[in-house]
Amino acid sequence: MTQTITVIRGDGIGPEIMEAALFVLDAMNAGLQYEEADAGMVALEKHGELLPQSTLDSIRRNRIALKSPLTTPVGEGFSSINVELRKRFDLYANVRPAKSFPNTKSRFPSGVDLITVRENTEGAYIGEGQSLSEDGETAMLTQKITRRGSERIVRYAFELARKTGRKKITVVHKANILKSTSGLFLRTARVVAAEYPDIQCNEMIVDNTCMQLVMRPEQFDIIVTTNLFGDIISDLCAGLVGGLGLAPGANIGTEAAIFEAVHGSAPDIAGKGLANPCALLLAVGQMLDHIGQPENATRLRNAIVATLEAKDSVTPDLGGEGNTMSFARAIASRL
Ligand code: ATP
Ligand code: MG
Repeated sequence: MTQTITVIRGDGIGPEIMEAALFVLDAMNAGLQYEEADAGMVALEKHGELLPQSTLDSIRRNRIALKSPLTTPVGEGFSSINVELRKRFDLYANVRPAKSFPNTKSRFPSGVDLITVRENTEGAYIGEGQSLSEDGETAMLTQKITRRGSERIVRYAFELARKTGRKKITVVHKANILKSTSGLFLRTARVVAAEYPDIQCNEMIVDNTCMQLVMRPEQFDIIVTTNLFGDIISDLCAGLVGGLGLAPGANIGTEAAIFEAVHGSAPDIAGKGLANPCALLLAVGQMLDHIGQPENATRLRNAIVATLEAKDSVTPDLGGEGNTMSFARAIASRL
């Protein structure tokens, strides 16, 4: 059975890392067909729009997209194409694994293996109620938390724990200060947690969470939290395990799911073959899990780990002398 996925090559280093990722994916014979669609600067040049309707239609049709980083030029309608995509498809769950890999610049050479599940549509990101007084002295922002939004993200985290055999959920909040918004999130989380007696659940205030992550990251398994806290925490976690070149993310909704590298388009190294393709490849792993190919996902992750262990053809950001494609070939040869 073949499945078609939407492929967005993106901007900057996007096309290079996508070529590498598709090379490895092809070597796996995962039975996937690619439908190319444009977004970002490439789309603006070709179609006069950052996010053409044909791209939205493709994602809606295929329900699965693999996406490289996109550049959103200032003053082109939206503040971020990525945020716009999340809104259009109600991609409410942002799932970001952080795992220690061998031979990386990690603070913790082993022992970090956690997933941040970030609510992706509410909180401080609703884009409403932002104002600046006429004299420029006072700025306001509205945050919105709903019971429905909180329930579905917490449920997603618990279901993810069951599916992946993880044992513990940490609900991260600031309900002591943000009594209304974070309070509703926390109370809703407690109700959902009661339905999953097989999964351990604890609560942690966000500031303490940051300290605990730096001191004893191994105590965490799955973190579930609201939009802004999740944004910050997931980058902190990427830092714990050696940086952006190894950080994948999935944006999951009921109508579609988009898999991506967490890093940006890195124009400073674009076109030079220096980009590390691992983050996008790890996102491919998340995609394979999501579409019901967990064996292939594991095969891919094992090949990545083995390549890092051997330091075979790894890119300069990992201290190697390889390039994007030689790294990809080394991974493909270990599948
Ligand atoms: P954007 O505006 O799209 O976010 P950026 O340059 O900010 O672009 P980032 O991902 O934030 O992109 O890049 C931060 C730094 O990390 C840059 O110096 C970049 O070269 C480096 N970097 C990002 N991704 C990779 C990668 N896959 N491999 C190697 N270096 C990377
Ligand atoms: Mg950036």
